Amino acid sequence: MNKKKESVPSRKQIAEYWKGKYISKNLEVIDDYEEDALPVISDWGEPECWACCEFNLKIYNNPNYEKLRTSKNYMIIWNLPEVKFLQKAHIKSKMLGGENVPSNYFLLCKECHQESPDFQDPRYFFAYIRNSRKNEVKIRKRRENEMMRAIYELAFQLNKNIFTIDKAYKNLPNSFEKMGLHITNYSLYTLASGVVDVMDDLNLDLLSDEEFEKMKNEFLKYDIILKK
Ligand SMILES: [Zn+2]
Repeated sequence: MNKKKESVPSRKQIAEYWKGKYISKNLEVIDDYEEDALPVISDWGEPECWACCEFNLKIYNNPNYEKLRTSKNYMIIWNLPEVKFLQKAHIKSKMLGGENVPSNYFLLCKECHQESPDFQDPRYFFAYIRNSRKNEVKIRKRRENEMMRAIYELAFQLNKNIFTIDKAYKNLPNSFEKMGLHITNYSLYTLASGVVDVMDDLNLDLLSDEEFEKMKNEFLKYDIILKK
């Protein structure tokens, strides 16, 4: 067996392959723009998820970023550590006969990678990509919602005051050392734990009736019933 075929291409190699390519309305990969075609990479200089457009702002703090971005070999920025949040997602999985070649990979954030279809016919994968890009804002909202639910579920069990959630987000770095990684990412409930950890303890007796009603209604949004 050819050993070269077995090694996984780098992010830079994958991005180089897809640079300038489009997904057409008919879910085909094309080299020239046609009406309603979607560019696979929206901005070569700003590596973001090819489905939901998630971006890692930390890349701006990398001292080499600006220098590389304006250099001849600018695609090398796709190999910077700040782009590692983009996972190499098979279009056709190995199980279905997909190969380890750049044309069989897309760069997706963890969430999109987990959600994306593994299906024999790649049109389903491209349909998912086109849909995500068109509904980027909606997808972000849905994820925010999932996060809020996770926070509220844990807050309820741990008797935390959910009115302090803004403060908790601000103080989230205080929890980082208590958080473990699942492979390379924090899981949904790990992040929620980090937020809840910083939230104040809840003392129902100290809440006014008005505050209690407000809190009860907040929890109710996520089907959590608060009892005094
Ligand atoms: Zn994504």
